[in-house]
Amino acid sequence: MIQIRWQLGRYIRHGWRWFILIQLICLLGVAMAGSLALSERLNDRAEEVVVATDSFLNRGIDALTTLGHELAPGACDATAEFRLTEAAIHSDVFDHFAYLSNEGGYCRSATNPLYPVQVGQLISTHPGPLWLSFDDSTLTPYQLFVLEQAPGRYLIGVAKSSHLLDRLVTPRDRNFIRRLQIQVDQRLFYTRDNLTQVPWLSLQTSLAQGKVRVQMMALLFSGDHWRRWLTYSLPLSLALGVLLPVLMIRRRSHQGVLVDDLTMALRRGEIGPVFQPIVHGGNGRVKGFEMMARWTHPTLGMITPDTFIPMMEQHGLLDRLLLSLADQARGKLPSTAYLSINLSGEQLTQGLRDPLSFLLEICHRLGIGPDRLMVEITERHALDYDCPQLQETLAILRHAGFKLAFDDFGTGHNGIACLRTFSPDVIKIDKSYVHTVSGEAIQKPVLDAIIQLARKMKVEVIAEGVETDAQRLFLLERGVTSMQGYLFGRPTHWHDSCPQPQPAIA
Ligand code: C2E
Ligand code: CA
Ligand code: CA
Repeated sequence: MIQIRWQLGRYIRHGWRWFILIQLICLLGVAMAGSLALSERLNDRAEEVVVATDSFLNRGIDALTTLGHELAPGACDATAEFRLTEAAIHSDVFDHFAYLSNEGGYCRSATNPLYPVQVGQLISTHPGPLWLSFDDSTLTPYQLFVLEQAPGRYLIGVAKSSHLLDRLVTPRDRNFIRRLQIQVDQRLFYTRDNLTQVPWLSLQTSLAQGKVRVQMMALLFSGDHWRRWLTYSLPLSLALGVLLPVLMIRRRSHQGVLVDDLTMALRRGEIGPVFQPIVHGGNGRVKGFEMMARWTHPTLGMITPDTFIPMMEQHGLLDRLLLSLADQARGKLPSTAYLSINLSGEQLTQGLRDPLSFLLEICHRLGIGPDRLMVEITERHALDYDCPQLQETLAILRHAGFKLAFDDFGTGHNGIACLRTFSPDVIKIDKSYVHTVSGEAIQKPVLDAIIQLARKMKVEVIAEGVETDAQRLFLLERGVTSMQGYLFGRPTHWHDSCPQPQPAIA
């Protein structure tokens, strides 16, 4: 439960900035994509309106021409009015018809609101055989078509604007398109304006094809449009906002530990040293201690180095760690014992600082001389011992009095190849070989071979991970006296000073 709460808290602590950033990016993306879609929708509508207007015009002209052929030209009598009314009822373009003739007078279908003076005005102000006009001064605005059938004879069609609007704009788009203006042959053919002033954020488009020209304006904040966009994008952006930071945190962490947690732990002094005795396996005398790191986490308790050392190495935090451990271990070491520290290969080869002055600084903080410090070189990544620079560094360190040891000998990269160009003072045989003593493992001869090799090279051996008396005796038989392991003492914290280990030696 504590673990879950801690993990959750960690994701929130490290992920909230990412969450907000992802939400902002998603919002920006949605705003841009939504605006583009809106503008595309407006352009599509403009095209549709142009096409629909053109077709409306053609159908209107066709309807007038056909009616002109059907109507017997002549006087405007009751029969003519009846025909016009009948034609208006059956027309799917016009609501009213009228007929104006210089000789025959003016007649119109029933309920036609048009006066001949309006037609006269239109004809006198524009050239034509066809006149188109829009009148929104009446209660029901309309489009007017006037076709000159023969000189002095005009057939007039009146279409209510609402019909045109029905054809041009769907009810859903009526809310979206706030301003619409159609011009035919540069004359106003239709206008609709739902705005008192031009809004701050609006979309405008204008399209001209043939004699039809359309201008449109829509509001960028069209409620239903954004509601639909947010319905889909909001859950997606929330999911991304949670998932991406979790994945990022998992990628940047090693066994659940994040580098930020480590820097914080170092700052708070949560990572401290433990010491394990290195003893003479024959008489139990303590020769030295190996200093290792332990992270005492406020909620998770003790965390072992395997969880955090690789991550610290990856982020170049091992120097800081060692300096901090040295500060905490200052003055605690018994004067007769040496101290062994772990130094990763990377720490030796990184060109940013001089290894000698760094190790002297460690000695200074510990309050001991270099002759009492053993440096265990651990290789998580292969070191190039043929490199003259590394050989020079190792020679300088040895010359300064430091004891150099190859840690975990026989495992990973610390193998026989390392001995080709550099001979350390000590090799520490990895516990996995020592543990072969108790079993029937096939690697027992390898342990023998390592011991013989070290003897031939006159290199001191420390056997790690000695847990049983059988292992101790086996090693003693082969002349290995320096040992380290649970049999002699586990790595422990020294709160005030070093407790004397109680070696289990018969
Ligand atoms: P290492 O240097 O080989 O350290 C010996 C490891 O074996 C330690 O594990 C120790 O607790 C464990 N050990 C000691 N005696 C016995 C035993 O009898 N039986 C068994 N089964 N294990 C035993 P620990 O403390 O978990 O350290 C793991 C590794 O982390 C170390 O291996 C070392 O490579 C690295 N490490 C620890 N502290 C530091 C540090 O301060 N700096 C660096 N660079 N590496 C460190
Ligand atoms: Ca070690
Ligand atoms: Ca080791």
